Amino acid sequence: MVKKYQLGNYELFFLHDGSFWLDGGGYFGVVPKVIWQKLIQPDELNRVKLNINPLLVRTLDHNILIDPGQGNKFTEKQKQIFGINYEPSLEQSLAEIGLTPDDIDVVVATHLHFDHVGACTKFDESGNIVPTLKNAVHYFQKNEWEDATHPNERTKGTYFLENYVPIMEAGLVKLIEGNKEVIPGISVEITGGHTKHHQIIFIKSEGETAVYFGGIVSAVTHIKIPYTMGFDLYPVEIMEKRKELYQRAIEENWLVCLEHDPINRAGNIKFDGRNYQFETKVTT
Ligand SMILES: [Zn+2]
Repeated sequence: MVKKYQLGNYELFFLHDGSFWLDGGGYFGVVPKVIWQKLIQPDELNRVKLNINPLLVRTLDHNILIDPGQGNKFTEKQKQIFGINYEPSLEQSLAEIGLTPDDIDVVVATHLHFDHVGACTKFDESGNIVPTLKNAVHYFQKNEWEDATHPNERTKGTYFLENYVPIMEAGLVKLIEGNKEVIPGISVEITGGHTKHHQIIFIKSEGETAVYFGGIVSAVTHIKIPYTMGFDLYPVEIMEKRKELYQRAIEENWLVCLEHDPINRAGNIKFDGRNYQFETKVTT
């Protein structure tokens, strides 16, 4: 079921695009399994289940989709490795609120990993890869685009060109440089950490602020400062960034939205004098 949250004059819809299973060691980085398995139970292949959590922002003028999701173009082998489940898909959750992919006119992505922008393209009836959101301008960070179109030995398992090159060829991509207001009320701020040019996305209306944290904190299980992922390219940067962002989030009472949490979709960051906590406001 798609949950809704009113942020000032905007409506936030917490969409779905299925789920996948990620190696628990990769997901928890240097945290030992004896510790992390108290937070989340792995399957027999040592994988943990993560949801794909796209966010739709409805303003008077726009339907803005943040991190559309993993999509449906995986090979049989990838489906097995990642235990991909497509239900409920992006299309199904949009339909639930009376929208189709054609109603989306703005897309903003934190970064270009396959589980965030795979849904930007799809197979058509002839098996060609085409844009899914054909009426949307897709705003990507320029340096992230450069990295994603020139993957190295480490990043080539996460950056798949078929997820974004066809949208560029269709003339639907606008590359932005640095911290910017993309459209009124929606802005990006570069954080680095998860990828070198990863950005978080702010939604502001009537004095209220929500922020989509992307790979900075993907789930409540990663709220502790050193709980970074093995997939993070610059984990020490993430730790520093978290300290700064948590402070701002508390001072300005941000609604923090989580990209992969199977249960907690959004909430407030709190500090109890010793540890940071996540006070959930919206569940799956
Ligand atoms: Zn990522």
